[in-house]
Amino acid sequence: MNSTLLANLNPPQLQAVTLPHQSALILAGAGSGKTRVLTTRIAYLVSHDGVPANRILAVTFTNKAAKEMLTRLTSMLPIHPQGLWIGTFHGLCNRLLRTHYYEANLPKTFQILDSSDQLSAIKRLMKLMNVDDEKYPPRDVANFINRHKEQGQRAAEADTFSVHDKQKAAIFAEYDLQCQREGVVDFAELMLRCYELLSRNAELREHYQARFQHILVDEFQDTNKLQYQWLKLLAGTKNALFAVGDDDQSIYAFRGADVGNMRELTRDFHVETVIKLEQNYRSHGNILDAANALIQNNRNRMGKNLWTAADGGEPIRVYEAPNDVEEAGYIVGEIQQLHREGMDLKDIALLYRSNAQSRVLEHALVSAGLAYRVHGGLRFFDRLEIKHTLAYLRLMENTDDDNALLRIINFPTRGIGARSIEQLQEVAIQQGTTLWDAAARAGGKVTAFVALIESMRNAARSLSLPETIAHVLQHSGLRALYENETGAKRAEAQERLANLEELGNAAVLFVHENEDDSLTSFLTHASLESGEHQAGDQDDALHLMTVHAAKGLEFHAVFISGLEEGLFPHQNSQREASGVDEERRLMYVAITRARQRLYLSFAQSRMLHGKVNYGVASCFLEELPEELLHWITPKRTAFAPTFTPQNNPFAAYVSPVSRPVPTPPRNQRAMASSTQRTVSGTEWRIGQSVTHAKFGDGVIVNLESSGADARVQVKFRTAGVKWLALEYAKLTAV
Ligand code: ATP
Ligand code: MG
Repeated sequence: MNSTLLANLNPPQLQAVTLPHQSALILAGAGSGKTRVLTTRIAYLVSHDGVPANRILAVTFTNKAAKEMLTRLTSMLPIHPQGLWIGTFHGLCNRLLRTHYYEANLPKTFQILDSSDQLSAIKRLMKLMNVDDEKYPPRDVANFINRHKEQGQRAAEADTFSVHDKQKAAIFAEYDLQCQREGVVDFAELMLRCYELLSRNAELREHYQARFQHILVDEFQDTNKLQYQWLKLLAGTKNALFAVGDDDQSIYAFRGADVGNMRELTRDFHVETVIKLEQNYRSHGNILDAANALIQNNRNRMGKNLWTAADGGEPIRVYEAPNDVEEAGYIVGEIQQLHREGMDLKDIALLYRSNAQSRVLEHALVSAGLAYRVHGGLRFFDRLEIKHTLAYLRLMENTDDDNALLRIINFPTRGIGARSIEQLQEVAIQQGTTLWDAAARAGGKVTAFVALIESMRNAARSLSLPETIAHVLQHSGLRALYENETGAKRAEAQERLANLEELGNAAVLFVHENEDDSLTSFLTHASLESGEHQAGDQDDALHLMTVHAAKGLEFHAVFISGLEEGLFPHQNSQREASGVDEERRLMYVAITRARQRLYLSFAQSRMLHGKVNYGVASCFLEELPEELLHWITPKRTAFAPTFTPQNNPFAAYVSPVSRPVPTPPRNQRAMASSTQRTVSGTEWRIGQSVTHAKFGDGVIVNLESSGADARVQVKFRTAGVKWLALEYAKLTAV
């Protein structure tokens, strides 16, 4: 055995890693070595106990975590752990169902419905069943179905306490039949179907139970009921379930995660000793004290202490900015300082609660010439199939977008040849119009293309963002194009298809994390996230991400920005009883990512989605012990913005709104922003497409100042990002 394998473990860690073949729960706070223990245990089982790698199943929370764990393991072991299964719950269920599709009563090529596909399927069905979608919003029906599936229940077992529930249960039953007919499964179904397969089919169950003697689960606090039942089935009576988790880091209750699973695990698996790891190896004392103090405000904790041998270290710096632009400026200045002092950019993370917040930060970073990388599901905007899909969306938003039109007029091929396209271009030049105008007057297949885009635009008016994307993929023929690929190109097509699915997921996440989930806002986001400013994998670059995406990671320095009421804690959380507690756990996750330096900041006013919001400091700041903090700006006892609508430089541009920002009904939202004017008397708004005589087409990505000095920042498609004085810029709205 590799002799250094156990050398760097403390006694309880060592105990956990070397436990005999029995189930265990490692309940421990952030940075106490849970993931390290889990990985080391796999290596120990293989190299010390001689357990064949194919007897081990490891479940992690993201594909990225799975990949990292495999890399770590490979470095600890003399040979590659052949046959080890490691992945996410959904990934592993998919793998099992693909192998046993016949037994699971699925077609070999079953497709996976993402949440927007699922919604469309439900809508379609409800129409057939003549169910009033005002009385039964399809989204509620989808939630009803998923909630039950996540509890392991089918329509027959669904709640039918009210007439309402009875109707939903009836749709649920029909929906499952429809999915079965069409050979598709939704996300929750992947899990449930796999669970049912194993529970019904004794032969298969016994086969896998005999195979996976060791089942290890990281981030156990975020498993839902069904996932836990699935684990129980695989574990049977003989196998060992080794779960590590932290109840204080449960941040997916909104997706049905159930911390109660930890208590059940100790009972169901007769766990005699819950191993607690209490030494934190990640953070300096002040950071850890702050995290401990914060989380104490939560109710229903399992309770554990976390200490560190490290000294207090630097105080936590707190900065109050008059507005978000200045907040970003402060952060960039500090990052430059750390960098000058010798810290690598890759050891620094800049975190925010919602994706929309990254925009201002990104601009400040670009202006300062700092390399950064945005993490999360949206890193793939440069891939061909994504660009094509976005081109459809862009053209729908703005028919004058010639680049978008050229990209897709004959993609997928619809018989419009190069010659016809050239002719269109000639006509457009001659008549001084856009290609779209020229196309509208052309005949034949070009007319059909124009009609297609028009019909997509109409459809989008009543669809949410993920639905709009699903609609485009369906009606453009893009999905079918890749689905129908056979032969040598099939593997590549499958990958492209997966990316398209991923775009749907990105949209769902975007809707979840952003107040303004209009198509425009998504497109602006997409263009900002596209490769241009993204650092390469090898470069020394700063990490930008949402707090959710930072789970499990660590950095020397961490900046948590936008600590304002309504933003973090997020305003949605105030609606639910447990909401603020979950936000507090999220804040706990954020704080505990930091090793040496922690910076907290907030702004009195913030431009979000083209509007100025006036916020007050996050309640979480009040919960941190004063002696740990160093206020860069003087702390004010009663928080009152010094900037008012009257003296704020943004104010001439936009009418201030107070939180919470009212959200238009969903059916008006999808395309609302294309007509929205937020600046009285002017047309300019963030996300707006513009044309400049010299720089060409672009999108407004920022607005600044007022009166004669008004400036807009435009991201041009080819000329890069530029600030332009409105008075002189030859800018036309498109
Ligand atoms: P999180 O709750 O954030 O997922 P975790 O409990 O999984 O954290 P790890 O990421 O495994 O914690 O460990 C945190 C840091 O502490 C890592 O850098 C790890 O290498 C280090 N570490 C863990 N145990 C020890 C130890 N015994 N000696 C030195 N460093 C350790
Ligand atoms: Mg971990």
